[in-house]
Amino acid sequence: MATVAALSSLPQALPKAFIKQLQQAVGKAYVLTAPEEQRVYECDAYLLMQAPPQAVVLPISTQQVADVVKACNQFDIAFTARGAGTGLSGGALALQGGIIISLNRMQRIVAIDEANQTATVEAGVVNGRLNEVLASSNFFFAPDPSSQSASTIGGNIAENAGGIHCLKYGVTTDHVLALEMVTTEGEVIWLGSSNRFNRGLNLTGLLTGSEGTLGIVTQALVALTRRPQAIQVFLAAFPNIQTAANCVSAIMRDGLAPAALELMDAFTVRAVNAAFGVGFPEDSEAVLLIEIDGTKASLAQRGTVLNDLLKSHQALQIKEATTPEDRHNLWQARKKAVASYGRYYPAFYLHDCVIPRSQLAPVLSQILAVCEHHNVAIANVFHAGDGNLHPHILFNPKDDGIHNRVHAAGVAIIDICLAAGGTLSGEHGIGIEKAHLMPKVFNPADLERMAAIKSVFDLSGRCNPGKLFPVRHGCGEVGAHGPFGKALVNTMPQQTWLGRSIAALAERGLWI
Ligand SMILES: Cc1cc2nc3c(=O)[nH]c(=O)nc-3n(C[C@H](O)[C@H](O)[C@H](O)COP(=O)(O)OP(=O)(O)OC[C@H]3O[C@@H](n4cnc5c(N)ncnc54)[C@H](O)[C@@H]3O)c2cc1C
Repeated sequence: MATVAALSSLPQALPKAFIKQLQQAVGKAYVLTAPEEQRVYECDAYLLMQAPPQAVVLPISTQQVADVVKACNQFDIAFTARGAGTGLSGGALALQGGIIISLNRMQRIVAIDEANQTATVEAGVVNGRLNEVLASSNFFFAPDPSSQSASTIGGNIAENAGGIHCLKYGVTTDHVLALEMVTTEGEVIWLGSSNRFNRGLNLTGLLTGSEGTLGIVTQALVALTRRPQAIQVFLAAFPNIQTAANCVSAIMRDGLAPAALELMDAFTVRAVNAAFGVGFPEDSEAVLLIEIDGTKASLAQRGTVLNDLLKSHQALQIKEATTPEDRHNLWQARKKAVASYGRYYPAFYLHDCVIPRSQLAPVLSQILAVCEHHNVAIANVFHAGDGNLHPHILFNPKDDGIHNRVHAAGVAIIDICLAAGGTLSGEHGIGIEKAHLMPKVFNPADLERMAAIKSVFDLSGRCNPGKLFPVRHGCGEVGAHGPFGKALVNTMPQQTWLGRSIAALAERGLWI
């Protein structure tokens, strides 16, 4: 965990001519330069670090985004895209100064095409809003991060967001068919294709999850999913977190293919009961929420199998949410669980390592032991079916020595997860928070390839600098070598933006 920090020295003041150009691009009212107007953009939901931008611009169209990026290039100013600022790894901070380009005004749902099961949306459309608009149709947008009432589809794409129902339906990248983006040179391009059978390099997949480091997404063509005919949601209470975790492995192993499978510990159950009055059983130590969906006929049979399996894994109590309203309330309580912790602790620090599901029980035991050792409180609510842990270390920042203890527990949790064959992040991204940990999971050759790709898209290094990579690679420090580099230089047409970037790298001796 980084301690609360602000950049001590900012780059020099932005040139007046640059501000003027921004104002010409987006309108004077949409260029924020006063410190009080920018306050909200100093942090995101990572909360442990602040970095004030030098200006914030709020374009309303792709062309305006392009004009802003071109101005940044002309004046050599860094820029960082921002959606709702709900990111949990500091990705939307202007870490090295420069401007924030907020996509929040780009909220048009451009088209919904039920025949082809797609929607075209601007990047600033809030995830939940798209599903509200689809409420009366047979389709929905499947990626459902718990932040969906606020987070934007552009932010979801940048972070490759997951969510409760991504266990069955796949994470954001599985639902993005094509992207409109503004390149770091200010050109507007589309990646991907409107049909699901695209050829060539999967640049849409590359952009999705690149944490805003390769360009700015302005529109997306996303796939819509047909609603299942029937849904059943079960709540099962367990004597301890290990029995619940073992049951998760069994459910997945036995082919029940749940749409969602979430685990809440006792602290979380009590907190959501107090906050939302949902009446989860408090006389247990862990609760599983399990959703299965499909045809009515298939559910009757699978529901019986699931019930038997839960009983054979020591479930103390099994309840079924029978009405759509019950189900909605139950999932809302789950999605808002994090907010309910605020009654007890003013701050939390959250990891989202992913581990093999079979390791859930032993890893959870080790995490509990580590938190006890460092004398910090912990709450767990997570995407158990995916093995995507969310240990929340709860604390009061005013407590003596707490920052060191939280930091030590956080480091230990990551080490435990990596030792179990896990990885750094399931859905919250690397951002600032975990950049220094990348060498723990990637070797130098992996990192070099990633940095080379970053250079292809962002030759100047102005696009969201300081994120994702353990060491900030300037253009001169990074290159792709050998046949890989040569092949690309030879194949990319010089008149394209990508081709020109590669040629420029080659000219500078960076592609050899
Ligand atoms: C209470 C809570 C619950 C959460 N639950 C989940 C969850 O279940 N699953 C999950 O995956 N995440 C979750 N998150 C994390 C967060 O909501 C997601 O990462 C979300 O996708 C971020 O969207 P945003 O619009 O807030 O993006 P921001 O926070 O504004 O930005 C995130 C990153 O995306 C980049 N970015 C934003 N817009 C663009 C764009 N148009 N083009 C290029 N780059 C862009 C930014 O530069 C930054 O690097 C949760 C967060 C909170 C606070």
